[in-house]
Amino acid sequence: MSVLLLFIDGVGLGDDAAYNPWAALPTPSLNDLLSGKSLTKAAVGRHGDGVLLLETDARLGVDGLPQSATGQATIFTGRNAPKFLERHMSGLPFQRLRQFVREDNLYLQLEREGFRPAFANSYTEEYFQRKATRRGWKSVSTVAIESATAPVRMTKELLEGKAVFHDLTRRHLQTFRPDIPEITPEQAARHILHLLAEYDVVVQEFFMSDVAGHKQTPGLMEWVVETYDRFLGCVVKEKRASDTVILVSDHGNSEDMRVKTHTMNPVPTLVVGPVPPVSEVDLSAWNLTDIVPFIHRILRNGTSGEIDI
Ligand SMILES: [Zn+2]
Repeated sequence: MSVLLLFIDGVGLGDDAAYNPWAALPTPSLNDLLSGKSLTKAAVGRHGDGVLLLETDARLGVDGLPQSATGQATIFTGRNAPKFLERHMSGLPFQRLRQFVREDNLYLQLEREGFRPAFANSYTEEYFQRKATRRGWKSVSTVAIESATAPVRMTKELLEGKAVFHDLTRRHLQTFRPDIPEITPEQAARHILHLLAEYDVVVQEFFMSDVAGHKQTPGLMEWVVETYDRFLGCVVKEKRASDTVILVSDHGNSEDMRVKTHTMNPVPTLVVGPVPPVSEVDLSAWNLTDIVPFIHRILRNGTSGEIDI
């Protein structure tokens, strides 16, 4: 029994409308999970046996548009990072937020309790050779994994099928490592599932969804939606019955192509697989701080096999 935390940046729960690519474009795998519905507000609730979509507050009681650095720090720590900083912080974290993540996070908590976590994303050697800026250049997810005993995965692990590139298919990696061939979203899913068989918790971060929402480059959002839907479909179909997949986003963006900015929309927590009972009280205030405790509940208490709502 393991937990796969799929962290997809910049995907809110939007409307069932033409300006929402998650509703307008084909997503057969998501539709299968959500009783034929798309990943929108209209799909919130329970779907059949072991699928639950929770509306998740990303605003966290702080004014302004939710942003990446504070949203991700909240997901990784279970603590309200925008409240701590008294604002939402975009992009890469400044020193104070890096310290907030480093001092305690999901990986450190799991390792203290004897569980084995892994961050599935691979890094290139070049990433760590970049010049440090005043702001630093490391993402929250990088700072989090560097604080843990679990190793940072590199190109070596990628080529052994023991890691995935952030975009899953290595499409972006091809631009500077043309010697490394692209793979299909299904192959990426199988690499993740191999890791999941070896670890208690595996985390993957995909951020091309946020990039596509900001840039609105023609064709990019279509690629994102198709790639991610195929990846998720394969993960869900081929995972062990005892594994739980939790997909969550840091803030809205790509679900509303009328704007190039983030949105105020809630984000999805999509749970597929066995989970402990979730009460009405939990659901009414469900937000990004709830992900870490939810993972602990799954690992510590086992699961009932039922979603009790
Ligand atoms: Zn963004």
